[in-house]
Amino acid sequence: LARNPGEAEFHQAVTEVFESLGPVHDRHPEFLHGAVLERLCEPERQIIFRVPWTDDAGRVQINRGFRVEFNSALGPYKGGLRFHPSVYLGIVKFLGFEQIFKNALTGMPIGGGKGGSDFDPRGRSDAEVMRFCQSFMTELYRHIGEYTDVPAGDIGVGGREIGFLFGQYKRITNRYESGVLTGKGVSWGGSLVRPEATGFGTVIFTDEMLKARGKSFDGQRVVVSGSGNVAINAIAKAHALGATVVACSDSSGYIVDEAGIDVPLLREIKEVERGRLKDYFLRRPGAHYVENGSIWDVDATVALPCATQNELDGAAASRLVGSGLVAVGEGANMPCTRDAVAIFQQAGVLFGPGKAANAGGVATSALEMQQNASRDSWSFEHTERRLTEIMVGIHDLCATTAEEYGDPGNYVLGANIGGFVKVADAMLAQGLI
Ligand code: NDP
Repeated sequence: LARNPGEAEFHQAVTEVFESLGPVHDRHPEFLHGAVLERLCEPERQIIFRVPWTDDAGRVQINRGFRVEFNSALGPYKGGLRFHPSVYLGIVKFLGFEQIFKNALTGMPIGGGKGGSDFDPRGRSDAEVMRFCQSFMTELYRHIGEYTDVPAGDIGVGGREIGFLFGQYKRITNRYESGVLTGKGVSWGGSLVRPEATGFGTVIFTDEMLKARGKSFDGQRVVVSGSGNVAINAIAKAHALGATVVACSDSSGYIVDEAGIDVPLLREIKEVERGRLKDYFLRRPGAHYVENGSIWDVDATVALPCATQNELDGAAASRLVGSGLVAVGEGANMPCTRDAVAIFQQAGVLFGPGKAANAGGVATSALEMQQNASRDSWSFEHTERRLTEIMVGIHDLCATTAEEYGDPGNYVLGANIGGFVKVADAMLAQGLI
């Protein structure tokens, strides 16, 4: 960790994984001899670049772009791009590191990577976002490819941005290489269910945890943080399984709607109008809005943090446990602090870590790559069935691994060991790489 000073989120992610791995080394001394841990912490390649672009007022703006190609033992680097002002190397590395194990858990042939920029798309016109994306891709294109590195979306990068990025890649390379990016529009190489996949998958995984305890989503009172891609689709799926989602948030505040969030209205405001959550409260009788408050003050039996890292701390975890919480599924990456996770686990709350619970997005990206490779496009029903099978498979792998290593019900241990063993085996088989 001394080699990576100031990268707090990366340190946190590495510590969390390594704390689970003690029992693995008793059974697999070859991983220690092969220095697998040391190799895993060092990305195979890190790219940092300048992104110059012009805003609508004609001023030159400079942002910083990143792509961390972390591990290709299982397949081409795969992981999203994040556009948010908080992005720096430590965030991209934590996300890329998590992605290695998440991708391994899906059972698909994909390695781990992540990228992004400190560009803030909020308040920018479509034309500004397009110019930024074109400039970003003008450097990134030389590092990516269907067989090398396949980016996708993350915070601040949705269908609009993927479109601009893909268009620029095609223009520079003169190749219609569908498999170079995922999250594309359905009419030009995208997959049905990809937009819904992370949120749907998080709920499916959490439902599997509940079922393993003889419970289900039906009748649960759910709080979902965020109101972006993952959050909206998690809300939709939770309602489809009979739960009531009573609250969601953005970075300005949260809304409470005891009748259950109106998903079509939320989609209209966030996905069509690109508005703020406060607009929901203004248009929905009975809802109320809390500016700058913590959404974790709202009572819930199931909590799905779907916004950003470290958004749910120890104090919030204790409060939720006191209000009758039964399960937590991390839709976001590392949204719960280490204190919060410890409190949930000590209280016997089911806890699904992000690298397992939110793996449905990247798994469906791999299904998009399969469709691109075979010049095919699958129906919604078929693709959703595949997503469900994959999420149930991830749940079962985590559960059986936790049991095998003597800590049944510990999904953190199960996910970390289950993902790690696959990657470590592949790294050793491929020699000193
Ligand atoms: P979006 O950009 O669509 O939405 C992000 C949401 O989180 C917005 O409501 C945003 O509010 C809120 N948010 C972002 N940053 C902060 C912050 N610092 N404080 C408070 N709220 C914040 O992103 P996604 O839904 O795609 O991603 C959400 C999480 O899910 C991330 O952790 C991402 O890594 C993870 N994830 C996403 C996948 C995907 O397929 N998209 C796959 C796997 C994981 P505001 O609009 O006010 O900024």
